[in-house]
Formats: sequence, C-alpha cells, structure tokens
Amino acid sequence: QHVVIWFRSDLRVVDNTALNHAIDSGLPIIALFIATPMQWHQHNIAAVQVDFIHRRLQVLKQQLAKRNIPLQVIEVNDFAESVHVIDQVCFDYNAVHVFANKQYPINEQQRDNSVGELIAKKGIKFSIFDDNYILQPETVLTRDGELFKVFTPFRNAWIKRFTLSPSYPVTKKSDIVTSDAVIKLLSISNPIKAFNYPIIDSVLWPVDEETIAQRLETFFETKAETYHQNRDFPAIDGTSCLSPYLAIGALSARQCLYQLLQHFPNALEINKDDGAFTWLNEIVWREFYGHLLHRYPELSQYQPFQKFTQFVQWKDDAVLLKAWQEGKTGFPIVDAAMRQLRSTGWMHNRLRMITASFLTKDLLCDWRVGEQWFMQHLIDGDFASNNGGWQWAASTGTDAQPYFRVFNPTLQGQRFDPKGDFIRTWVKELEHVPDKYIHTPHQWASAESLNYPLPIVDHKEARLIAIESFKQAKAYM
Ligand code: FAD
Repeated sequence: QHVVIWFRSDLRVVDNTALNHAIDSGLPIIALFIATPMQWHQHNIAAVQVDFIHRRLQVLKQQLAKRNIPLQVIEVNDFAESVHVIDQVCFDYNAVHVFANKQYPINEQQRDNSVGELIAKKGIKFSIFDDNYILQPETVLTRDGELFKVFTPFRNAWIKRFTLSPSYPVTKKSDIVTSDAVIKLLSISNPIKAFNYPIIDSVLWPVDEETIAQRLETFFETKAETYHQNRDFPAIDGTSCLSPYLAIGALSARQCLYQLLQHFPNALEINKDDGAFTWLNEIVWREFYGHLLHRYPELSQYQPFQKFTQFVQWKDDAVLLKAWQEGKTGFPIVDAAMRQLRSTGWMHNRLRMITASFLTKDLLCDWRVGEQWFMQHLIDGDFASNNGGWQWAASTGTDAQPYFRVFNPTLQGQRFDPKGDFIRTWVKELEHVPDKYIHTPHQWASAESLNYPLPIVDHKEARLIAIESFKQAKAYM
C-alpha cells in the first residue's frame, strides 16, 4: 500500500502541508506532478514560468529522493485527463490516500472535485489542504462573518487574527522506506522530459533551495529596512523579487513571514514609515486577493468585481493594443516596462500599475486583455494577484483605484524614474536624451531623428474620455 502526494503549485519539501500529512500517514509515498500543456495554454501560463516549473521539478525530484520518495512526472493534455491519471496511479501503486494542497481558481476546484468523486468510489481518500496563504481563505472576516471588501480593515483584522493564532512553517522528516522495486520503476536519476510547451529560458531565476533561502535572507539583511522608501523606484533593486518562488510554491508565504519576524519582531505593528511593516502589508495584499478569489468564483470567469463596470464601452483597438504590447506607445516609462516584460518575464510593481492603468484608461482597452497578456509573459503569473492587480488598476475591483483618479504616465515616470535610468536600459532609442527630456523626448528631438514614436494618445483627452465612459456605465446600471 502507498499514499500519493500530488504536487501542483507547491513545489517544495519544506513547509508543505500536504506532504506533512502524507508523511504522517506512515505509509510509503509516491509523489506525482501532472503537466497539462493544453490547460496551461487555456490559462495563458507563460512559457518562461513553465520552464521555471520544469527546472524546479528537477530540484524537487532530488530533494524527494533524499527522503525516499520517488517523483513521477506525467504529461497529459488537460485537467480532465489528469483526473484519470490520478485514478491510474492509485491503481498502479495500490494507493489508499491522495494528498494535495488547494488551488483556488474555479477550473482547479472543479478538477479536484472530480478527482475526489472518482477515487471515493474505489474507497480511496482524497485530502486537500489550505497551504498557499498564511491564513486560510474565509478565516479573516468581519464581525458579521462577511468578507472584507476594503483592504485596510482586512489587513488590521488579519494582523489581529495572526497574533491570536500564529501559523508557522512546519517541515516533517520522512524515514519511511519505499520499496526498491518502486524506486527503480520511477528511475529517480532520469532527467524530467521537456514539456510539450514553448520554451523560454528562465535561467536568470535560480531554483535551488540554498539560493532561494539566501534571497530571502539577503532581502532582510540589505533591503527590508529601506523597503518603504525604495520599493516604488524601478531603477533601484529595492524589493524582494520573491514572487516567482511564491507563485510556483518553491517558497511558502509562511516561510516569508517567519523570517520577517525573526529579523524584525515588530513588523506586525502598524507603521507606514517602517520597511518591515510595509513589506508585511504587501504579503497581506496577496492574502486579500486569495480571500477574494476563494469567495467569488466569478473572478475566475472574466467578471469584474464592480458590476457596473461591465457596461464600460471598451474600445479594443488592435493597433493601440499592439503598440502597448510591443512597448511602442511613445510614453517612455510605459514602453520601457512593456519591453522589459517581453524580454525577461519580469515587471516591477509600480510599472505594473502604470502600464495597466495606461492600457485601461488611456487606451480604454478591456482590462481582461491586459490581464491575459501579463499571464502569458510573467514568470510570477498568479491568477489571484494578477486578477486583483488588474481589477485594481482598471477600477473594476473592490477597493480599486477610483475611476476618476487616472495615472498620468508622464508624471508617474518623472516621479518614479526621475533621471530615466530605467527607461534608458530598455528603450535604447532614448539612450542619449538628456535627463530633462527623458519623459518628453519629442520636446528635445523629432520622432524621426529619435526613431521613437510620438505619443499614441493625448493623455488629457484620453483621461476625460475614460472618466466619461465609467460615468455612463454607472448611469446605465
Ligand atoms: P515585494 O515588493 O518584495 O513584495 C513581497 C511579496 O508580496 C511579493 O513577492 C508578492 O507575493 C506580494 N505582493 C507584493 N505586492 C503585491 C500586490 N500588489 N498584490 C498581491 N501581492 C503582492 N503578483 C504576483 O505575484 N503575480 C502576478 O501575476 C501579479 N500580477 C500583477 C498585475 C498587476 C496589474 C499589478 C498591479 C500587480 C500584480 N502583482 C502580481 C503584484 C505585484 O506587482 C508583485 O507581486 C510584485 O511586483 C512582486 O515583486 P516582489 O516579489 O519584489 O515584491
């Protein structure tokens, strides 16, 4: 008899709730990962993230092997087929129990329901745990048991709840011996075959345990104290860059918080002028979006949170959209950010806000198109945070940027990249433009001589049109 641990977006042996429970069962463990390339296409998973997952699986395989747990990686098309894989694996190894950590978007939940139903018929148990967030969805609620729709009270309640019942990382050791025959069958030393998916190299992001732990440590030693001052400036390396690891579960949010409190025991005390608290605040934004996604499945079904915004008349102009995607809008900060995203799979948080606002307000393109483009390119693509970020910027979300407060992309650039250091890294055409004109290069030289496009919209006009469109949508409702 065996038990199965099914890895999904929790690719680690450290502080993994489902793995801990599998170990507690006392039976030999088979680990499983199911690649579903067709489903990934449908979910717009970035090729660079899939490569990152693939590389991380190699590490996971070795780590599990040291614990006597063989990892089997199976590729099928989609979630529907993965249900049958679980059934087959249970049959092959005479498994009596399957363990996994929850994924919250709707297709993932439906897949898990199908697995549970199918294997229950054969007397096999399916146990599934909340592991992705520090406090599980539905545990931070108002006094009336309602979900907080505004972030700040959510954060305050979150801190209160965490203080009352803290949740810390737990890693269990496994000394259960899996039979030689099974280990041989799953040939631990074989490399994992490439997935049937486009490949974009993710090598800039190390996947070994030591480096990930070191990144966390380095953040606390060198950046956390000044995080609140530096975090908005893309030319400064002022944030942790840990989101890719959180997205695939190479690192747990509990580990982040635990280490934060080891270095800064007062980080739970509200203080906006404190780097450690400000970082905690961001971790809690991640928790907020997790809570929302869990409660409102319609967020996974292309629905805006604010119902009236479904009546906004988006323009969806293919030419404007292409200019945004390619970083050729004539707005230097937007173009630099969009080019960085395409080349590296990474974009700084401030730039995500600026580019998302630009697409949805200045170009009046549907936020869902931008949401998809980000997922298709981001190495840290995470449905809850990406959807939350887009709905925030597009003013369609709960506690979002109000629709009448539209970012001015030029002023944002001047404020957060004052000398244009970030812009010059990504928009080579503007390399020689003096600091003074880096955000308005056409005041210095013509579009032809710069070989850089004129602004594709007039921001002042576009802003008014966007506000009017939201007003009309509200009136229609
Ligand atoms: P740090 O500043 O070091 O913050 C620490 C951690 O807190 C991050 O790793 C992340 O897990 C979390 N966090 C920080 N800011 C936010 C936020 N605004 N919302 C939710 N969690 C946050 N984040 C993703 O992980 N995946 C996405 O697909 C994603 N898409 C986004 C799309 C838009 C339009 C916007 C505005 C934001 C998006 N974010 C997304 C949130 C944020 O931009 C990234 O988490 C952050 O830039 C990651 O950098 P970091 O690890 O250096 O963060």
